[in-house]
Amino acid sequence: MRYLLPLLLLTLLCSCGPAQNGATDKERPKPNILFIMSDDHAQRAISAYTDELIQTPNLDRIANEGMLFRNSFVTNSICAPSRAAIMTGKYSHLNGKIDNLSPFNPNQWTFTEELHDAGYRTSLIGKHHLQALPRGFDEFHGLIGQGSYYSPVFVHNGDTLDAVEGYTSTVITDYALAELKHSAADTSGQPFCMLYWHKAPHRNWMPDTSDLPGLLDKKYPIPANLRDEYKGRRAAEHADMRIADMFTSHDLKVTGDYQNPDPGTGGAGFITNPNFDQVKNFAYQMSRLTPAQQKAWEPFLKRVGEEWLDVKGTDRELEWRYQRYMQDYLASVKSVDDNVGRVLDYLDESGLDENTIVIYTSDQGFYLGEHGWYDKRFMYEESHRTPLMIRFPAAVAAGSSTGELVLNIDLGSTLLDYAGVTPPADVQGQSLRPILEGRNPEDWREDIYYRYYQQMNSYHRVARHEGVRGDRYKLIHFTEPGFEGYELYDLEEDPSEMHNRIDDPELEAVKTKLMERLGEQRVALKVVD
Ligand code: CA
Repeated sequence: MRYLLPLLLLTLLCSCGPAQNGATDKERPKPNILFIMSDDHAQRAISAYTDELIQTPNLDRIANEGMLFRNSFVTNSICAPSRAAIMTGKYSHLNGKIDNLSPFNPNQWTFTEELHDAGYRTSLIGKHHLQALPRGFDEFHGLIGQGSYYSPVFVHNGDTLDAVEGYTSTVITDYALAELKHSAADTSGQPFCMLYWHKAPHRNWMPDTSDLPGLLDKKYPIPANLRDEYKGRRAAEHADMRIADMFTSHDLKVTGDYQNPDPGTGGAGFITNPNFDQVKNFAYQMSRLTPAQQKAWEPFLKRVGEEWLDVKGTDRELEWRYQRYMQDYLASVKSVDDNVGRVLDYLDESGLDENTIVIYTSDQGFYLGEHGWYDKRFMYEESHRTPLMIRFPAAVAAGSSTGELVLNIDLGSTLLDYAGVTPPADVQGQSLRPILEGRNPEDWREDIYYRYYQQMNSYHRVARHEGVRGDRYKLIHFTEPGFEGYELYDLEEDPSEMHNRIDDPELEAVKTKLMERLGEQRVALKVVD
C-alpha cells in the first residue's frame, strides 16, 4: 500500500486544522450521519450524473449542496457482498462474504458498531440483506431478505411485525422519519448514525400506484449496444442477463391470458430453480396489494398485455421489452427520489441539516440495456460504477465534484474520520475527507482492484473474474474454468467496452503495466487465491 502512508499523514495533519466555516473539530459537536443507500441504482439514472433518462431533483440536491463523485466504484458488484464490504471496510476475501450464497460472519468489526461504541445512536432502517439482526444498532427496522414492494414485512429489534399497508419506499421512509424525529427531540446532544437503505430499484421493479398513470407512454433512448453480439468477449456472450430473456410476467408484468408460453430464462440459467414459477410469483406479489391498489393496476396490466400480444415474436419485441423494463425501473427510482426529498426537507425543518453528513450511494450500478442487459456482476463500467454524493455543509463546498477513484469500502473510514475515531489497521478503505475538503491528495490511489466470485453455474451465469482499472485503461482476468482469459479496454476511446484490445500490439506496454499492477494490488490487498 504505497499510497497509504502519505495519505495517512496528510489526513492526520488536515483533520486538526480548521474546517471551512472556521470551527475546529473539537469546537464542533460530532456530526450526525444519514447514510442513504438504494439497491441496484445506476449512475445513469440520476440526473446529477446525466439527465438523459430521468430527473431526480431530490437526489441532485445532495450533489448540488455537496460533492459529486464521478468515479466511484464497488469492489464486488453484487448485493450482499457489497453491503458487507461497506460495513467492514474490507474486500470480500477478507470479510468472507464473497457471494450472495456464502454466510456473513456477524461477529466481525463494522464501522457502525465502532460509531456505536464511540457514543453514537445507531439505526438501520430498510433493506440490510446480511443477517436477521445485525450487531451494534440501537434501532433496527429491517426488511426480511429482499422484502416486498407492497405490504412489506419488517423485523423491529428482533420482533417480526405484521405486513404494513403501503409501498416499500414510502414505508421505509416513514420509519426513517420517525427515527429522525426521535433524534431531533433528544436534548442530550447524542449524535446519530442512521442507515436509511431502500429496496428500490431492485428487480422486479414494481412501481407505486401513483406512478402508473402515463407510465406506458414514456419512451427512453435506446443504447447503441442494445443488440451487442459480444465479439471478442466470451464471458459476456455466455451470461444470462439479457433483456431479451427476461421473464415476461415477473419482470415485464404480462399477466393472465396474455402470458407467453415461452417466458424466457429470467437469468436463472441452467440451474433454474424448479420451485420458482414466474407467473405464480408475480401473482403472489400482486396478491399483496389492497383491493384499491389492485384496481389502480388493472388498466395498466391490461394495456401491457395488449401491447405484448402486438409485439411478441416481431422485430419490435426487444425494443418493447427494453422500454417496459425502463418504465418500471425508472418509476422505482422516482419513488426513492420522492422519499429522499421528504427526508431532506425534514432535516431542513428540524435544523439537523447543518451538522449532518448526508451520503447517497447504491450497493452497485446496473445495466440499463447496455450490452442488451439488465443486472450487474461484471467489471464493465455500468455495474462496476456506483453513484456517490456526499453533503456536509460544515466542511464540503456546495456544487463540488471529483474524478478521483473511490471505493465503497472508503465510506466507513470517511465517517469515522469525521467522528474523530481511528479505524483498526486492517480496514482497507481510505478516508475521503481530504478529497471532500478540496485538498486533492497527490498520493491518492491510481488504480483499483475488483473481484467477482459467484460461479458460472449460478444465477445469471457470469464467469468469475478479477481485474484492475486505472483512469483510462481496464484489465479483466476471467478465471472461471473454461472461460480463462484476459480482456483489455481503452475507456477513453471505447467507453462502452465493445472492443477487447488484449491482443492489440499498440497496447502492449499498457497490458504489461496493468498485469504488473494486478499482481501488486493482489499482494497489497492480501489476496491469496
Ligand atoms: Ca444490489
